[in-house]
Amino acid sequence: METRLREHGLRITPQRLAVAELMLAEPVHLSPQQVYEQLRSRLPSLSPNTIYLTLDHFEKAGLLRRIHVGGRTVFDSRTERHDHACCRRCGLIQDLPASSVEHAPLTIRRWRIDAESRVFSGLCPACLEREG
Ligand SMILES: [Zn+2]
Ligand SMILES: [Zn+2]
Repeated sequence: METRLREHGLRITPQRLAVAELMLAEPVHLSPQQVYEQLRSRLPSLSPNTIYLTLDHFEKAGLLRRIHVGGRTVFDSRTERHDHACCRRCGLIQDLPASSVEHAPLTIRRWRIDAESRVFSGLCPACLEREG
């Protein structure tokens, strides 16, 4: 993990290492608040602001992608282009393969698109099952 941070030009601090272990070990979607709650007990000196700045740094270094899903800002450990489905009840965020630009409306094909993502929202299978 330390090597990975250095490869992206980041100095190692205990906070950065803790955030990296939480965010980069496996694919996750976490809001700054969720990251703060999960690390608070391990690093009592941590402030929500430090977490936010660390996530922002990681995004600029290309380690994370910031997405806006269901009215929340969430950091995504998968940085390649993909879409999301978001459950409006439990907040689950699931990765989906990216929808292709070829199927985009004709008007957008004359643009040069740098970023594109879609969010499908509704109820996840688990919530649907609970609903009966
Ligand atoms: Zn759900
Ligand atoms: Zn994702």
